Amino acid sequence: MDLTYTEEEEAFRARLRAWLAKVLPTLPARPAAADWPGRRAYDAAWQRMLYDAGYAGLHWPRDAGGQGATPTQHLIFLEETELAGAPYVGANFVGLLHAGPTIAVEGGSEQRARWLPPILRGDAIWCQGFSEPDAGSDLAALRTKAVRDGDAYVVTGSKIWTSHAEVADWCELLVRTDPAAPRHRGISWLAMPMDAPGVTVRPLRTLAGSTEFAELFLDEVRVPVGNRVGAENDGWRVTMVTLSFERGTAFVGEVVACRRVLGALARTARANGRWDDAVLRRRLGRLSAEFTALWRLTQWNVSAARQPGGGVPGAGGSVFKLRYSHARQELYDAAAEVLGAGALDADQEWVADRLSSLSYTIAAGTSQIQRNIVAERILGLPKGR
Ligand SMILES: Cc1cc2nc3c(=O)[nH]c(=O)nc-3n(C[C@H](O)[C@H](O)[C@H](O)COP(=O)(O)OP(=O)(O)OC[C@H]3O[C@@H](n4cnc5c(N)ncnc54)[C@H](O)[C@@H]3O)c2cc1C
Repeated sequence: MDLTYTEEEEAFRARLRAWLAKVLPTLPARPAAADWPGRRAYDAAWQRMLYDAGYAGLHWPRDAGGQGATPTQHLIFLEETELAGAPYVGANFVGLLHAGPTIAVEGGSEQRARWLPPILRGDAIWCQGFSEPDAGSDLAALRTKAVRDGDAYVVTGSKIWTSHAEVADWCELLVRTDPAAPRHRGISWLAMPMDAPGVTVRPLRTLAGSTEFAELFLDEVRVPVGNRVGAENDGWRVTMVTLSFERGTAFVGEVVACRRVLGALARTARANGRWDDAVLRRRLGRLSAEFTALWRLTQWNVSAARQPGGGVPGAGGSVFKLRYSHARQELYDAAAEVLGAGALDADQEWVADRLSSLSYTIAAGTSQIQRNIVAERILGLPKGR
């Protein structure tokens, strides 16, 4: 893979940098973690600014409303927005980074026209209704059932750990449409409106004080059959597309953010004398090498996803997710060493980041599950069971 940037790509970088320098100083501060309605409004407004400036869905295909940018331009976008300290994708995470890309690949033309433009404009927030109390890692054990009744499915069951459910308009929902089929074959992928009668959202408060998650209770919710993406009972295959986007490309911008935090930590260590500790210096150096390697892996994954016949990131995304989630935790452990007593100052933003880093080895599939995927699909080792 050629990692050098062409003149045209550098010109794109310069245009983007100039735009960011103009708009970022005009933005208000992001609302507090507990203020989800405020966060939704803030994240939607930022997405609208990106849309109006021609930067929304940069890497989505043109026929899905995106900009059809090259993988390199996409990486430049992620790099520059993070380096400039632009707002995080936030409540738009599911829509922009995995529900939208799944619909772009698997949806019919009417579905794409209906759901994708509102995601790109920041008008529609999506959440992900995959996990259930007894179906997390073993997702194919899901029990929420959908029974066909005329032109609708009647959905009953419950979901858990549904991020952003409190403020979402739509849910990418996995349901069991054929209880008699082998468990991977009887599942369908539906787009469920969150304001449909029978949907109850019960927020869960996290260690960091945010109601980022919720439980979803679904009591005979009618979802039109036309909201099914992919064929009936073929939802497991569609789900693999969603998960590969989630693990493969959804976290890449955050690697740059980690590099920025690492740079800030090194400067703090120099200022407060901790830099004299050779063990700590080595630790920060090793992390720097790790994030550089992860950025290279990112370049490779995003590029591979855009090859002819590709469009969907492969199992390589699991390698990235596995290493990235651990490196992020190590970064915040090192931060605690640099900051000493300051590590307990709950008012500092990085303390919330440290608490949330604990969840990264679980969200989007635990590390054990990523190792299983790497072992079976990349290394070709026999299945454990
Ligand atoms: C921050 C965060 C956000 C999330 N957001 C969402 C969301 O928006 N929507 C959604 O649907 N879900 C979401 N989840 C749920 C997440 O996908 C699940 O927590 C995850 O899949 C693990 O499932 P579980 O919690 O049921 O754990 P379990 O599956 O019960 O696993 C428990 C432990 O057993 C291990 N284990 C299980 N099976 C195996 C195996 N075969 N081999 C080796 N080890 C195994 C696991 O690795 C883990 O350590 C989120 C989770 C977090 C932390």
